[in-house]
Amino acid sequence: MKLKWTALMFTALFCTALTGCGASAGALQENADKFNVVCTNFAEYDWARQLTKGLENQFEITYLLENGVDLHNYQPSAADIAKISTCDLLIYVGGESDHWVPDALQSAVNPDMQVIRLLDVVQALEEETVEGMEAEEEEEEESDAPEYDEHVWLSLRNAAQCCSKISEALRTLEKDPTATQKLQLNEESYQEQLTALDSEFLEVSTQTQEKPLIFADRFPFRYFVEDYGYTYYAAFPGCSAETEASFETVAFLAQKADETGVSMIFTIEGGSSAVAEAVRDSTAAKNQHIVSLNSLQSVTSDQISEGATYLSLMTDNLNVLKGDAAAT
Ligand SMILES: [Zn+2]
Repeated sequence: MKLKWTALMFTALFCTALTGCGASAGALQENADKFNVVCTNFAEYDWARQLTKGLENQFEITYLLENGVDLHNYQPSAADIAKISTCDLLIYVGGESDHWVPDALQSAVNPDMQVIRLLDVVQALEEETVEGMEAEEEEEEESDAPEYDEHVWLSLRNAAQCCSKISEALRTLEKDPTATQKLQLNEESYQEQLTALDSEFLEVSTQTQEKPLIFADRFPFRYFVEDYGYTYYAAFPGCSAETEASFETVAFLAQKADETGVSMIFTIEGGSSAVAEAVRDSTAAKNQHIVSLNSLQSVTSDQISEGATYLSLMTDNLNVLKGDAAAT
């Protein structure tokens, strides 16, 4: 019995050694055979997933934040670092919330690893503090280097640029011509969907952009408003951890809501609407709807298994903005 077991083990090891590199060895040893793609946020994860559709047996896509922790609060575990150090493609933003990535890359053991930093792919915009916003406390080590807004994925046009970069990297990994062609077709079809949704946003924004977006919350939508010409007021900058607004901030936002006659006061997903309610209660009209735009910063694996995608969540945002178009 013991002898038989050893022989079996040996056969298994030998097969593994033979088929260890390359993605065509089938189900024998699942993840080791696949190209491993690691993503630090939901948008990157979903883009990689859509771009490799139909090739799930060849690409393993990892979303590090799947338990839904807000990406600003995420700390990589030892297992996450290990995953990063051996992956074939790492996609990260390169901003405030995944600032830990360069350190993690120090321990990378795969010399052929490809790394995509989204802030290098898009036209990066500097962080901005607008009138009425509670500025973030400056960090101790103050440097003169500009700080770029990291929430690049909230622009569909940025998404298009990121996806073409990601698809290009995937095609570099993949050697099989049939699979490469599939990657190409996936990208074309996904780019079409991004363009179609961008056109819809453009149409809605032309009907609604005269009025500012008033955020009684943090404001990660800088790239989004840049695309569609909205102005905005917000309680806190995009990466702020602040949740309680001062009396002055509430009064300022309420005054702007009254002056401009907006029908909605915005929050982002996952937070409390207490500040928004305080703003509404401080207006003269007191009739604004409190609505939430999803900034895709804390999407859970439950939401993913229920079918949430980058496009579905951005379409939900479109419908929220359409509500405004209907109300005015
Ligand atoms: Zn942020």
